[in-house]
Amino acid sequence: MNTILKPLGSMVNEDSTAVRNTGMADKSKIPVPKATPETQHFWDGTKAGVLRLQRCCECSQIYFPPRPFCPACVSRDVEVFDACGRAFLYSYVINQRPHPAFDGPYSIAVVELEEGPRMMTNIVGVEQTPQALKLDMPLVVTFEPLNEDISLPYFQPAEQPVEQSSKQHAGGGR
Ligand SMILES: [Zn+2]
Repeated sequence: MNTILKPLGSMVNEDSTAVRNTGMADKSKIPVPKATPETQHFWDGTKAGVLRLQRCCECSQIYFPPRPFCPACVSRDVEVFDACGRAFLYSYVINQRPHPAFDGPYSIAVVELEEGPRMMTNIVGVEQTPQALKLDMPLVVTFEPLNEDISLPYFQPAEQPVEQSSKQHAGGGR
């Protein structure tokens, strides 16, 4: 626990030397998204380490995924802004089928961003079990470069407040 945003490190099998820094067996097996004119701002953001959303200047709707018009009122007067990177775990499944990109079972999750939109992602930095992955748990974004152009956003558990982590969990299931 010496860094805050250790890059997706050592999460699934802490002692396995097969797990490099991502818990992934071979990240070259992950399909690489291609930036389009509509999504370029998003991928520029992840590469720079920020999560970018869009907001309608007419009705203030904040939305994701990227598109050049507001999904609520269809206005094309929209802007891009940097999200805070905090989210809550909304829903997930644990995929048990082997995938060459991942070392063991891995979560496929929907997180709800603090700004409102939901996003599909993987949860990293935590055991991929129902005991560890608790709905509504606070998360923060982290980024994993796939190549020199594309970095993927993942989410990891937010640091617990000091006050809570130093106390015994009353009735917690750990
Ligand atoms: Zn709108």
